[in-house]
Amino acid sequence: MSEAVNAKQNIDLLSLTYEELEELVLSVGEPKYRTAQLFSGLHRGLLPHKITNVGKRVAQKLAAVATCYFPEIAQKYVSAVDGTVKYLLRLSDGNCIETVLMRYKHGNTVCVSSQVGCRMGCTFCASTIGGKVRDLSAGEILSQIITAARDTHERVDNIVMMGIGEPLDNYENVLKFLHIVNDSRGICIGYRHISLSTCGHADGIRALAREELPITLSLSLHAHSDEVRSAIMPINRRWNISEVLSACLEYYRTTGRRISFEYTLIKGQNSSVEDAAALAALLNSALRRGESFPIHVNLIPVNPVKETGLMPPDAAAIKAFSAELERRGVRATVRRTLGPDINASCGQLRRAAAEKQ
Ligand code: SAH
Repeated sequence: MSEAVNAKQNIDLLSLTYEELEELVLSVGEPKYRTAQLFSGLHRGLLPHKITNVGKRVAQKLAAVATCYFPEIAQKYVSAVDGTVKYLLRLSDGNCIETVLMRYKHGNTVCVSSQVGCRMGCTFCASTIGGKVRDLSAGEILSQIITAARDTHERVDNIVMMGIGEPLDNYENVLKFLHIVNDSRGICIGYRHISLSTCGHADGIRALAREELPITLSLSLHAHSDEVRSAIMPINRRWNISEVLSACLEYYRTTGRRISFEYTLIKGQNSSVEDAAALAALLNSALRRGESFPIHVNLIPVNPVKETGLMPPDAAAIKAFSAELERRGVRATVRRTLGPDINASCGQLRRAAAEKQ
């Protein structure tokens, strides 16, 4: 294979930072100002030859050295209840991922996937059932925001990295995506409007802290003892609760950003009032240490996944759990289920599509 062909396969226009795009523009003999036109056009979902002012000649020069691919909307579901839109997107190699647009009072939030599948193995999660197929590139993560904005003709105000995959297991590409989506010459979403959720990759949390980006970190905690957490989340055998909470403390001290703790309520496993008391004790002792560490717990009644057979506790038990946390000084909210009529918790659409094939 010639070098030119290799180069063409390697450069993906959507994965380029502004500076990298500028380098490419100069390397094909175009003036610097083309970069601004291309960067903003690409991030509005236009292929180079469709961008006003850019023209066919420039598009051809770029096409000789780089590729650009916007995912195809394979399936789309719109909730009649609250307008939530759920997409199954097909990537250039045929793999599918899920992206969700949620409408809140404070604006539109898009939930993006960071990998095709996941290798973390949490027992309650549909995304991990077939393991990890591959990482998404920075451009493929970005293209989910672009697709949702283009399809709805609406602005995306917030991003949550809570879709398929473990973002800190695809660190470099996720970080590049964060830089690109934050760039004021493109989509321009402030770091304070971005949340990243992790199952507890302590090294990744510490690395992210060192980047000093003011993004919100969510830790999927789901249990108050190592015994239970290791049984439902294999990553706990690598970094246990004490190690991951100490990484969270470091994240808070470095960035000053509040950390939220996700706690999936599973009937009969982690959702009794005693569990709530133990969870509050754990967080208070591990994190407060004389500091005013703001602790917020998001309670998520488990979404039933047919392969797991797990069920959420009833409404009274959820209320009692939440009240017990509050009584012990831990703020808690029960996550509202959006799009109840298009209910397919993350990973389930992709699995259904894969099974059909
Ligand atoms: N890998 C990251 C982000 C993806 S999952 C993480 O683990 O945080 C986003 C959130 O949904 C996590 O808190 C995850 O534990 C939770 N989740 C996964 N499957 C679920 C299910 N069936 N019901 C409720 N929450 C679930």
